[in-house]
Amino acid sequence: MQVHGLKDRTQDLRKSLNDSLEGDIRDFLINEAELHTYDDLTKVNPVTPSTVLKCLQARYSAKVFYTHAGCTLVALNPFQPIPHLYSLDVMREYHSAPQPQEFKPHIFIVAEEAYRNVQGQVEPMNQSLVVSGESGAGKTWTSRCLMKYYATVATSSQKCQDTVEKIERRVLDSNPVMEAFGNACTLRNSNSSRFGKYIQLQLNGSQLLVGASVQTYLLEKTRVAFQAPNERNFHIFYQMMKGATEKQRLEWMLPLEQDFAWLPHAEKTLEEDCLQETVEAMINLGIDEGKRTQIFRILAGLLQLGNVDFSPASEEAQSCDLDGHSKGKTAYLLQVPLDELQSCLTVRTLRAGKQSVLKPCTQSECGVRRDCLAKVIYAQLFDWLVTFINNSMCADNPTWCNFIGLLDVYGFECFLLNNLEQLCINYANEKLQQHFVAHYLKAQQEEYVTEGLQWSFIRYQDNQGCLDLIEGSPSSIFSLLNEECRLNRASDAKQFRVRLQKELSDNASISWDKLSKEPHFTVAHYADKVSYQIEGMMEKNKDPVPPEIISLLQKSQDSLLHSLFADGDRESEGSRGHSKVVTVVSKFKNSLESLMKILHSTTPHYTRCIKPNPDCRPLTFKKEESCRFIVHGLVSESRFGLRSGYRSFTELFQPVYSVSADAITSCQMCFNLMSVVNLSCVVQLEMLEEHRNRVRSQKAFCIQCCWRRY
Ligand code: ADP
Ligand code: MG
Repeated sequence: MQVHGLKDRTQDLRKSLNDSLEGDIRDFLINEAELHTYDDLTKVNPVTPSTVLKCLQARYSAKVFYTHAGCTLVALNPFQPIPHLYSLDVMREYHSAPQPQEFKPHIFIVAEEAYRNVQGQVEPMNQSLVVSGESGAGKTWTSRCLMKYYATVATSSQKCQDTVEKIERRVLDSNPVMEAFGNACTLRNSNSSRFGKYIQLQLNGSQLLVGASVQTYLLEKTRVAFQAPNERNFHIFYQMMKGATEKQRLEWMLPLEQDFAWLPHAEKTLEEDCLQETVEAMINLGIDEGKRTQIFRILAGLLQLGNVDFSPASEEAQSCDLDGHSKGKTAYLLQVPLDELQSCLTVRTLRAGKQSVLKPCTQSECGVRRDCLAKVIYAQLFDWLVTFINNSMCADNPTWCNFIGLLDVYGFECFLLNNLEQLCINYANEKLQQHFVAHYLKAQQEEYVTEGLQWSFIRYQDNQGCLDLIEGSPSSIFSLLNEECRLNRASDAKQFRVRLQKELSDNASISWDKLSKEPHFTVAHYADKVSYQIEGMMEKNKDPVPPEIISLLQKSQDSLLHSLFADGDRESEGSRGHSKVVTVVSKFKNSLESLMKILHSTTPHYTRCIKPNPDCRPLTFKKEESCRFIVHGLVSESRFGLRSGYRSFTELFQPVYSVSADAITSCQMCFNLMSVVNLSCVVQLEMLEEHRNRVRSQKAFCIQCCWRRY
């Protein structure tokens, strides 16, 4: 409580209230000419989706890319390099400023605040920077920028500590490697991350960066064997094709003229030119030449595998190569026996008790097995890389004592067709939203209650119902999907919809489109309604790997590939006991739960990235399309920001007037019914004795206009 100077502040406030009452009340409505100067959306009045958008648009046109929204930072993607905004000098300026928050809004304010918070006034406190936004909005760019900030400011000024310098290098080098293997060109972003990540920057007692660790989520491994029209495979394959030397081409069996089914020629990206950069980063991380050779050979093997095809006619599907040699080259590059590769792709072993029967696969089944082989290898290789990077960056436990976590996960997704991937992503966003609400709103309100302040509360949107629908027990979408998987019966989408309807109809967050031909269900997420197709969802959840594939890979003569499967790490279809099925959703739920535990133990800072137009063009702000999901959130965040002002207001008035706020429904000053209703924090002017004679009874103003005046 700021009791100090309270009298002075109160007098100022009284004076400004007097002024405001005499001034032109239209002042309180938005002044369009000034909009670009509002560095906090809470200054926009009234706070509505349309005024928030107008303000952001005005700022974007004025080339101002950061704006506060109460305690959240909004980052608009400039879609062009703005070097002067992120130079080392600017970093140092923010770092050395006594009050960086007085500078213009910038990601470095958030970075610096977290950095100072780590030390904590009472005790050190870990921090999390949560960066969200749709694909192409600038999340990864922002995380990279934050990493550079800490690698610059959290270092010793005496540059003699060799190891510390090395660590900073390694932490930064983890980006190009993980992006080469985990990013791809999509319709929305030419460098789109196809996985989520949470990186912890470890600081020692002197606030120096001494290490880092990274956790990844939901790599989109299907991309290795399937690319939507005009999209691409992971960057690393293109880097190999473009950057390989003659010698490497021979070693990897990648002749220049060869076409690969899994390497569609979509629009070229800058990232494909980066083989050298990726290799140098791998070297800095300690991946030696032998390992690198193995990695690239395995990847080349996958490209050859993509060219293996199967003939339709005969009962026993025969594999045929597009160019006549792909199967042989695959076997050679993956170092597996050719005949076993052939049989593993085309014949299934059915077990009945102790007996086993061989059954030839149909053409499409063969294709599924081929794709599965590629996906399981790529996913394991990616995990191996992440583990390697962690071992290379992670400091010993006694060395580091605190961390700043950076979370860069997929934003909310709603496509024409949505399936299990979107359900998982949107579930993660739903969890983060709940975390946000819990942190900023619930905590504050509970604090008011414990302080005995009688103020009416903001009604915030509680999304617990939606989370119960997705992950709750005993019955939820996840639990029913898992049960389907455990029963191991042929999945039928229509029947599953009937089950969902029977079990979950009580939940208000789910609805059914009775007219749609395909079985669907629709979930009302906090950001929007999303319709999910059921067809294929159960199979995706099982994510089955035929046991023949695992045993083939266990026979690989390549020590790296062999080690990826040696300990039966990846449970295959056949080896799964009925009781311990590890499904995609249960794995995802578990990893998300541990993430949430970590987040809850830290002080979070939220940054919302906004993609100002769908075509990634600089200086173009298309309001309606761009900010669909995010503006809704920003409005409530800005209103919450107002509430922070309101808190100070409470602190100011509570002791003086013992104000109790019985909410009044409209604000006479700013004519802003909505904001009053939503803010529910109206103060009756009558309560301020000085104004009693000047204000007709029942006139009230909302905190929004009061606070601005103050
Ligand atoms: P996301 O991770 O949200 O999908 P990215 O971080 O990959 O999006 O950003 C997409 C592209 O936008 C980047 O490749 C970069 O070209 C551009 N970009 C994003 N933020 C900035 C920025 N602050 N300054 C300049 N360019 C940016
Ligand atoms: Mg990204």
